[in-house]
Amino acid sequence: MDTLPTVLIKPGEADRVLAGHPWIYAGSILRLTSPPSDGALVQVKDHRQRFLGVGFFNSKSKINVRLLSRERVAVDRTFFEQRIREALSLRQKHLPGASSFRVVNAESDQLSGLICDKYEDVLVVQTSSLGMDQRKDHITAVLRDLFQPRAILEKNEIASRKFEGLPELSSVLHGNLEGAVDIKLNGLSFRTNLSEGHKTGLYLDQQQNYQRVGNLARGGRVLDCFSFLGGFAIHAARAGAVQAHGIDQSEQAVAAAGENAKANGLSNCSFEAANVFDWLKSQTTAAPHEKVIPRFDLIILDPPSFTRNRASVPDALRGYKEIHLRALKLLRPGGTLATFCCSHHVDAAVFQEVILEAAFDARRVLRRTEVYSQSADHPILPSIPETEYLKGFAFEIAW
Ligand code: SAH
Repeated sequence: MDTLPTVLIKPGEADRVLAGHPWIYAGSILRLTSPPSDGALVQVKDHRQRFLGVGFFNSKSKINVRLLSRERVAVDRTFFEQRIREALSLRQKHLPGASSFRVVNAESDQLSGLICDKYEDVLVVQTSSLGMDQRKDHITAVLRDLFQPRAILEKNEIASRKFEGLPELSSVLHGNLEGAVDIKLNGLSFRTNLSEGHKTGLYLDQQQNYQRVGNLARGGRVLDCFSFLGGFAIHAARAGAVQAHGIDQSEQAVAAAGENAKANGLSNCSFEAANVFDWLKSQTTAAPHEKVIPRFDLIILDPPSFTRNRASVPDALRGYKEIHLRALKLLRPGGTLATFCCSHHVDAAVFQEVILEAAFDARRVLRRTEVYSQSADHPILPSIPETEYLKGFAFEIAW
């Protein structure tokens, strides 16, 4: 193992690594003992030659090294098998009974650059680092052994791959897949075409929240904004909502959500194609001397990320404020707003602040009853802030 090329890092840079963060930026590097090839395994040491770990090197990326282990290990098929087994047993512990879940969540599982989602008997893989991409064969072999999947798809149409010098592409790594897959979440069925779809398919990170938010719906009228395949609305309908209505601007998503409601035998569920901003505006605009009539007992706001970078945060916050203000006007006294933010650049404190500004303008006082996060198959490691992105709250109108 001592023959590995060595990356020495600058004084003061080791603590972040020791705390668990796996990224070493070009600017943190003191020198290289020999020039490693891109994608190769290197060992990392501090400026006093203290061993810190091994990881993949890529000179083309701003992140020059992605650490994979604090031990001197070979990164071979056995390594991937151990890591993926550990990741799997964590999911079995925290999401017992789930048949669709994220098996590997990159940095959360000490596998920077690798995501693997299990959708019943189909696996979807993303490799966002060169080193990981070069080892797709090992990874595929291990996944075949562990899961015996019907198919393994590579869904690598992700913009971040260009930072590693990798092309955007999708392919079938194993087996074959035709048509849609019926994905089970909390015992409900969601039909998804995995080769199209959002992310690697659908929003597994909301699996636990679908159930929790759904439980607030019994006996009430529910509005699910940005409903996509109907995750929240369908859980609300099953939990006994009088009616759950979803809004999404995508005609295709609305049609699929309607099919999903039907497949689950739920007739108290409807979907409509509209822009949520326009829809909420039309429902909350009253003529002079007329009042907006609050009609809902539970409103869910789960928009896409309005920010891709820091610079667009102020615009995003205006967008968040607007939908919250209008949603609050449509909530009956005692009603609940369940709201989510998946932007890494807007943290929970800032998000709550925007909601309170909207509540102030709507002259509503809120009682916070639930705090939400991403599902347990997307583990958060506070020493790696990038692992935390989804936050949400339930607020009741107190008065
Ligand atoms: N709540 C969903 C995820 C939402 S993803 C779930 O749990 O699965 C974001 C969705 O918002 C996408 O389906 C997209 O079509 C939709 N969308 C984005 N902007 C929109 C807008 N302005 N109005 C309505 N829908 C929008």
